[in-house]
Amino acid sequence: MINGSCLCGLVTYQADCDNGPIIHCHCQTCRKAHSAAFASVMPIAPAAFKWTSGEDQLNSFESSPGKNRYFCANCGSQLIAERREAKLILLRMGCVDSEISDRPDAHIWRSDGAPWYDPDHEIRQLAGTYAPA
Ligand SMILES: [Zn+2]
Ligand SMILES: [Zn+2]
Repeated sequence: MINGSCLCGLVTYQADCDNGPIIHCHCQTCRKAHSAAFASVMPIAPAAFKWTSGEDQLNSFESSPGKNRYFCANCGSQLIAERREAKLILLRMGCVDSEISDRPDAHIWRSDGAPWYDPDHEIRQLAGTYAPA
Protein backbone atom coordinates (compact mmCIF):
# COMPACT_ATOMS: atom_id res chain seq x y z
CA MET A 1 0.00 0.00 0.00
CA ILE A 2 1.39 3.38 -1.03
CA ASN A 3 -0.10 6.63 0.30
CA GLY A 4 0.55 10.06 -1.13
CA SER A 5 -0.54 13.67 -0.66
CA CYS A 6 0.04 17.13 -2.12
CA LEU A 7 1.88 19.99 -0.43
CA CYS A 8 -1.26 21.61 1.04
CA GLY A 9 -2.74 18.23 2.05
CA LEU A 10 -6.12 18.62 0.34
CA VAL A 11 -5.46 15.89 -2.22
CA THR A 12 -4.58 12.38 -1.05
CA TYR A 13 -4.41 9.01 -2.76
CA GLN A 14 -3.84 5.35 -2.10
CA ALA A 15 -2.30 2.69 -4.35
CA ASP A 16 -2.87 -0.90 -3.32
CA CYS A 17 -0.17 -2.75 -5.26
CA ASP A 18 3.39 -4.00 -5.25
CA ASN A 19 5.91 -1.23 -5.79
CA GLY A 20 6.98 -0.62 -9.37
CA PRO A 21 10.52 0.49 -10.27
CA ILE A 22 11.59 4.02 -9.33
CA ILE A 23 12.79 5.92 -12.40
CA HIS A 24 14.29 9.41 -12.76
CA CYS A 25 12.82 10.96 -15.93
CA HIS A 26 14.82 13.78 -17.53
CA CYS A 27 12.47 14.45 -20.48
CA GLN A 28 11.77 18.09 -21.20
CA THR A 29 8.08 17.89 -20.28
CA CYS A 30 8.89 16.40 -16.86
CA ARG A 31 11.58 19.05 -16.31
CA LYS A 32 9.12 21.81 -17.17
CA ALA A 33 6.17 20.34 -15.22
CA HIS A 34 8.24 19.88 -12.07
CA SER A 35 10.65 22.80 -12.68
CA ALA A 36 13.43 20.41 -11.71
CA ALA A 37 16.38 18.53 -13.24
CA PHE A 38 14.24 15.39 -13.39
CA ALA A 39 11.05 13.84 -12.05
CA SER A 40 11.16 10.64 -9.99
CA VAL A 41 8.31 8.33 -10.91
CA MET A 42 6.94 4.86 -10.14
CA PRO A 43 4.70 3.22 -12.76
CA ILE A 44 1.78 1.21 -11.37
CA ALA A 45 -1.43 -0.34 -12.74
CA PRO A 46 -4.40 2.09 -12.81
CA ALA A 47 -6.72 -0.49 -11.18
CA ALA A 48 -4.67 -0.26 -7.97
CA PHE A 49 -5.00 3.53 -7.70
CA LYS A 50 -7.68 5.66 -6.06
CA TRP A 51 -8.02 9.24 -4.89
CA THR A 52 -8.96 9.32 -1.20
CA SER A 53 -9.62 13.06 -0.79
CA GLY A 54 -9.62 16.34 -2.68
CA GLU A 55 -10.43 14.97 -6.12
CA ASP A 56 -12.39 18.20 -6.75
CA GLN A 57 -9.12 20.16 -6.24
CA LEU A 58 -7.38 18.38 -9.11
CA ASN A 59 -6.48 19.97 -12.38
CA SER A 60 -4.77 18.22 -15.27
CA PHE A 61 -2.70 19.06 -18.30
CA GLU A 62 -2.28 16.86 -21.38
CA SER A 63 1.45 17.37 -21.98
CA SER A 64 1.59 14.92 -24.89
CA PRO A 65 -1.26 13.06 -26.63
CA GLY A 66 -2.88 10.64 -24.17
CA LYS A 67 -0.65 11.66 -21.24
CA ASN A 68 -2.36 13.69 -18.53
CA ARG A 69 -0.46 15.23 -15.63
CA TYR A 70 -2.61 15.71 -12.52
CA PHE A 71 -1.79 18.43 -10.02
CA CYS A 72 -3.43 20.14 -7.05
CA ALA A 73 -5.00 23.40 -8.20
CA ASN A 74 -4.53 24.86 -4.71
CA CYS A 75 -0.80 24.20 -4.09
CA GLY A 76 0.52 23.07 -7.49
CA SER A 77 1.94 19.69 -6.45
CA GLN A 78 2.29 17.24 -9.32
CA LEU A 79 0.77 14.02 -7.96
CA ILE A 80 0.48 11.54 -10.83
CA ALA A 81 0.49 11.24 -14.58
CA GLU A 82 -1.86 8.92 -16.40
CA ARG A 83 -1.03 7.30 -19.73
CA ARG A 84 -4.38 5.90 -20.74
CA GLU A 85 -3.33 3.86 -23.77
CA ALA A 86 -0.36 2.31 -21.98
CA LYS A 87 -2.66 1.65 -18.99
CA LEU A 88 -0.17 3.20 -16.58
CA ILE A 89 -0.31 5.55 -13.65
CA LEU A 90 2.98 7.23 -12.82
CA LEU A 91 3.22 8.15 -9.15
CA ARG A 92 5.32 11.29 -8.61
CA MET A 93 7.69 10.14 -5.89
CA GLY A 94 8.06 13.56 -4.27
CA CYS A 95 4.44 13.35 -3.03
CA VAL A 96 4.67 9.76 -1.71
CA ASP A 97 4.28 9.66 2.08
CA SER A 98 4.81 5.90 2.63
CA GLU A 99 8.15 4.46 3.64
CA ILE A 100 9.85 3.22 0.46
CA SER A 101 12.84 0.92 0.80
CA ASP A 102 13.38 0.45 -2.95
CA ARG A 103 16.09 2.49 -4.66
CA PRO A 104 15.94 4.08 -8.13
CA ASP A 105 16.65 1.75 -11.03
CA ALA A 106 17.41 4.10 -13.92
CA HIS A 107 17.73 7.60 -15.31
CA ILE A 108 15.66 7.85 -18.52
CA TRP A 109 15.57 10.43 -21.33
CA ARG A 110 19.12 11.54 -20.54
CA SER A 111 19.17 12.60 -24.23
CA ASP A 112 16.78 15.39 -23.15
CA GLY A 113 18.55 16.19 -19.87
CA ALA A 114 19.31 19.65 -18.45
CA PRO A 115 22.87 20.61 -19.52
CA TRP A 116 23.65 21.78 -15.96
CA TYR A 117 22.88 18.42 -14.33
CA ASP A 118 25.12 15.36 -14.62
CA PRO A 119 24.22 12.35 -12.42
CA ASP A 120 27.88 11.23 -12.49
CA HIS A 121 29.11 14.50 -11.03
CA GLU A 122 29.24 14.15 -7.24
CA ILE A 123 28.61 17.25 -5.18
CA ARG A 124 28.61 18.11 -1.48
CA GLN A 125 25.66 16.90 0.62
CA LEU A 126 24.59 19.18 3.46
CA ALA A 127 22.16 18.17 6.21
CA GLY A 128 20.48 21.58 6.21
CA THR A 129 20.32 24.72 4.09
CA TYR A 130 22.95 25.89 1.57
CA ALA A 131 26.28 27.13 2.81
CA PRO A 132 29.04 28.30 0.47
CA ALA A 133 32.07 25.98 0.41
ZN1 LIG B 1 -2.56 20.78 -2.59
ZN1 LIG C 1 9.37 12.52 -18.34
